[in-house]
Order: sequence, then structure tokens, then C-alpha cells
Amino acid sequence: MDFIRKTLIFAALCAPLVPFGLSAQTPNVVVSLKPIHSLVAGVMGEAGKPRLLLKGTASPHTYQMRPSDARALAEADLIVWVGEAMETFLHRAVENLGSRSRVVTLHEVPGIHLLRNREGGIWEDDDHEEPHVDEDEDHGHEHDEYNMHFWLDPANAGRIVDEVAAALIFLDPARTATWRANAAATRKRIADVHASLEARLAPVRGHAFVVFHDAYQYFERAYGLNGKGAVAVDPARAPSAKRLVELRAALAEHKIRCVFTEPQFEPDLVRTVIEGSDVRTAVLDPVGADTRPGADAWIEIMRGLGDAMVGCLGKS
Ligand SMILES: [Zn+2]
Repeated sequence: MDFIRKTLIFAALCAPLVPFGLSAQTPNVVVSLKPIHSLVAGVMGEAGKPRLLLKGTASPHTYQMRPSDARALAEADLIVWVGEAMETFLHRAVENLGSRSRVVTLHEVPGIHLLRNREGGIWEDDDHEEPHVDEDEDHGHEHDEYNMHFWLDPANAGRIVDEVAAALIFLDPARTATWRANAAATRKRIADVHASLEARLAPVRGHAFVVFHDAYQYFERAYGLNGKGAVAVDPARAPSAKRLVELRAALAEHKIRCVFTEPQFEPDLVRTVIEGSDVRTAVLDPVGADTRPGADAWIEIMRGLGDAMVGCLGKS
């Protein structure tokens, strides 16, 4: 074997380790949740398709990883996820990744605006335990303290787009102009949807409602909406019968117009809560269970939330 041939074979074997855009292939990107996958798909555009882990009605709070997910992670150049407080199923897999993969843990990204989990009123159980104080102060309570559904805030969605573009520029600098142009176009689409939702939701500002789990505070803040509480205090567990009785009593007190259910959770629980009252129900879908994955999914999820809110809260 001559030297050149040996060199070529060596280069081919090493290709996945060559960091800077020498290959014609775009980076292999894996994203956990559909709305975030959608933003990543917007930045990648025609240059490549990110892979989505959580499909259909699977809830990130209870999902179990499959062997095909582990394989996808092992092959990834870039992984984009919220963090262990959201995708608990990914925690160990991400920690055990080789140095080959770059990981964007979104809740740690500077500029992502985080809101604290809500307490009091119907945001928690009557008999909730005192918050447990962790002895390890550095790691301790932080992950339960902040609400992790931050992709439903258009400003945060814009930050996610910028961060993904920066990661792609690092991994594949030859396509810098493409990543930049796609990111700008995606941010423009986010801004357009935001403007239309502001107008559409203005008439239902202030109307009180209860959600299935506290996934919407970023959306509520963005549009001045009046969420009063959640059916399920812990999205990984079904609410108790006692909790449902407690909620029924709270409906009149808080002048609740609507109790929202979710495709991921049992709708009968919500029907039990509102039975015999004039409170209405509709479905909110924070991860897009029925939405086709792709660049449009984030927009469709946001519009879907807007439609459901207006439909349920707007009637008199
Ligand atoms: Zn959630």
C-alpha cells in the first residue's frame, strides 16, 4: 500500500473526529423535545434534518429511553435538550457521552429567562410537604426551583435559535452564512407569531383558568394571561382523589372559566373536576403531541395554545 493510499484511509477513519467543517456532511443533531427540535430544524433549514427523540403523546416528565435513542445519542455531534429537570430520562445518557458530542443544555444558556415554579393557591396541594432542603448547596434545590417549560416564551425561543446557530457555526463553520441566514429567518417567524398572538389573546387577558400541569407560565407572562393553578402538582404523578375534590372547591372561589387538559394526560380527571359546574374544558398541548415535527411545529404549538385559550376563555 502506498503512502497516499494509507493517508487517505487514515483520514477516512479519522473523519468523524475532524472538527472543523472539512466534511461535506452537516452535523448530526439530536433534539429531545418537538418544539425545540422545530427551532433547530429552522436553523438547519435545507442543510440537514435534526433527529427528534420524543414523539407523539410521550411526556418528557415520564418518558423512558429506548435503545434507538441511545444509538442516536452515541452518533450525535450535537445534542440539544432543556436539562435534567425536564428530560429526566436523558440525564444519565448525557453525562456518560464521549467527548465527541457537543451538548447544549438550554436551561444553562445565558440570556434564557427562567421563571420560578409557582407556589401557594391552587398551584400546590393543601397538605404539601415543606420544601426539602438539600445539604449539597451547590446542586441542591435549583432544579426544582425554576420552571423548565421556557420554550413557550417567544424571547426565549429567539435565544434558543441563536445558541443553536452558534453551536452549528462551531461544528460546521463552512456553512456559517447558511446558519446565520436561517437563524435570522427563524427569529423573524417567531416575532411574527408573537405579534399575532398578542393581538389574538388581548380579549381574554385576565380571564381565570386552571391548567393540567404548570407548563404555561412563560406563555401566560408573554400575553398577560391569568393562570390560577394546576390540576397535577407533580406532572410525573396522577393527582389524588383528594386533590380533585380540593380543586372542585377552588373553581368558584377563583372564578375559573376553563380547566385545560393535555393530550399526555387522562382527560377524565379534568371532567371529574368540572362536572356539574359551568366551567369549560379544552386541550392545551405544550410539546405538540399531534403536531408534525419540523420547522413549523413551534409556530403551530404556539398558535394551538392561542386558539385553545381564546376558544375556551373567550365565550361568555
Ligand atoms: Zn411539563
